[in-house]
Amino acid sequence: MKRMYASTTVRANGVEIKVRQVVGFGNRQVPRNMTRIAAAAQSWLQACLAETKTRDMRPGVTAAYQKCFLHTPGPISINAVRSTLWTTLNGLRAAHSVKVRNDDDAYGYVKSYYGGRRHLINGVRAFDEDGDQVARKGDIHLDTSTVKNDLPMAVITYIHEATHRFANTNDYDQRGYFRSDGTDFESPGLTAFQAVLNADSYAYYVHKTMIALHGQVII
Ligand SMILES: [Zn+2]
Repeated sequence: MKRMYASTTVRANGVEIKVRQVVGFGNRQVPRNMTRIAAAAQSWLQACLAETKTRDMRPGVTAAYQKCFLHTPGPISINAVRSTLWTTLNGLRAAHSVKVRNDDDAYGYVKSYYGGRRHLINGVRAFDEDGDQVARKGDIHLDTSTVKNDLPMAVITYIHEATHRFANTNDYDQRGYFRSDGTDFESPGLTAFQAVLNADSYAYYVHKTMIALHGQVII
């Protein structure tokens, strides 16, 4: 069913972001948190790009790269990864909109325990109840409770979505999704070639790079 949305405009480092919530279900904390989530995503991507380089990559960053992209970094793949990160960051630095709604509502038939990153089930791209495609086109989608209660996961999800939206990445079911604790992929089987196209590989690579640099994430 089509819902009515109301939008609140926020700014993150000067970037205008329209935060859309279902009329009657809006939460005042959501736009405030979106400012922090969007600003963190920009700064994580920027910091990650500075560390993703062909020479003298730090051991912790190299380990994050191997974990997420399933191969030892070399010049060709580093350039491919950098290109996706840049395209994503540039997309997030221009005005865009974000649809924030309750995950159970938005992804009724997509069982999700960490809200918002699961888009592709058995090769079928999921649509939300408004009929909007969750990935690649239209707004970036985020889950209300994640935005309210789990800022690190919200930033990871936002980056995941942004790589779809701006850099045309894919999902590969359980083989492509990281466990929510970030330790590993949910199922084995992703190839190194697929990993360089996999949305969650980028989201978790950026997150793991921040952990490698700072021991924690700053939001
Ligand atoms: Zn996805």
